[in-house]
Amino acid sequence: MSDLSDTLQTAVSRHGERAVLLCSFQKEESVLVDELLRLGHGACPVRVVTIDTGVLFPETLATWKVFEERFGIAIEVHDAASPGDPWSGAGHCCSAAKVAALEHVLDGAEAWITGIRRQQGPTRADAELIEREERRGVWKYNPLAHWSEQELWRRIHERQLPYNPLHDQGYASIGCAPCTEPGSGREGRWAGTAKTECGLHLDPAQAAQAAQAAQAALAGGSG
Ligand code: SF4
Repeated sequence: MSDLSDTLQTAVSRHGERAVLLCSFQKEESVLVDELLRLGHGACPVRVVTIDTGVLFPETLATWKVFEERFGIAIEVHDAASPGDPWSGAGHCCSAAKVAALEHVLDGAEAWITGIRRQQGPTRADAELIEREERRGVWKYNPLAHWSEQELWRRIHERQLPYNPLHDQGYASIGCAPCTEPGSGREGRWAGTAKTECGLHLDPAQAAQAAQAAQAALAGGSG
């Protein structure tokens, strides 16, 4: 489990505030923010950023507030809300706005710290602790790549970290309200469709394939 502190320490010493933790207020970020604050002796040594799609769960918004209060950090917000063109199914997805917001977040950054874990599913099974994302020109740090669900919860309880209460209601993975249901792993994300990722962690070819699969599933009546 020293992967976590070693990988974060590497990101901090190489990039400092040119590293960005993208925060979605899930259990992974509870552990990551806590560890970053320990590395920074109480101050967060990297930028912490969230993308607000405008359709986050009320519980997630409450967790956002708790994170700021409990951890004493200011979280940068990037707006990806599209009230005139909301998510209305996997075939018409707001992911493009979210991906565009990510590009904006990473503009000028050298590194992106994520909560990706190999255990989360096939699209993440090969995640390395440190990877180069050439198309965005950044280093990607996945300090939890080898962590299990059990290890995360052990850490959260040992350190009494704040976490999103939706996890206690059966949501193992939490995205936006219109397209997230309770479920283990990532099965509650876009349940009943072929979509498995918003697109942030896919390369363009994978993202196009995923969109086509989602469209096909809808056309076949399985959406
Ligand atoms: S989680 Fe759902 S609503 Fe949120 S950006 Fe992704 S597809 Fe859109």
